[in-house]
Amino acid sequence: MVIIAAGFLHPEHSGLLEDLKVEFDPRGNVKTNADYLTSVPKVFSAGDMRRGQSLVVWAISEGRRAAHAVDKYLMGESTLPLI
Ligand SMILES: Cc1cc2nc3c(=O)[nH]c(=O)nc-3n(C[C@H](O)[C@H](O)[C@H](O)COP(=O)(O)OP(=O)(O)OC[C@H]3O[C@@H](n4cnc5c(N)ncnc54)[C@H](O)[C@@H]3O)c2cc1C
Repeated sequence: MVIIAAGFLHPEHSGLLEDLKVEFDPRGNVKTNADYLTSVPKVFSAGDMRRGQSLVVWAISEGRRAAHAVDKYLMGESTLPLI
């Protein structure tokens, strides 16, 4: 018996993501620019949703960087720590 355990794919597209009409990268993850902004204005993405299945340390780092980017987007600057 051969069991294919092919998990760790992209986020579920149906529902929220398709409703928002965000663009996806070639791997099916939510595409953003360097500031975590998606193709839809005011919609940001970070963590597994953006970089694909990864590690908790990356999720924490991305969460902080995304918060910094959102703060900068709204306020023009940010003093939130990046690390
Ligand atoms: C089985 C498994 C084992 C793992 N083991 C390890 C490990 O040993 N070490 C390690 O470092 N990493 C491990 N990881 C990876 C790690 O868990 C992830 O990289 C990390 O949790 C990603 O964090 P995140 O905040 O980006 O996403 P998540 O932790 O997936 O958080 C996303 C949240 O968004 C919520 N959500 C989704 N859609 C919606 C919606 N439409 N509206 C509202 N909320 C929504 C979800 O319910 C979830 O709570 C493992 C992952 C899996 C699946």
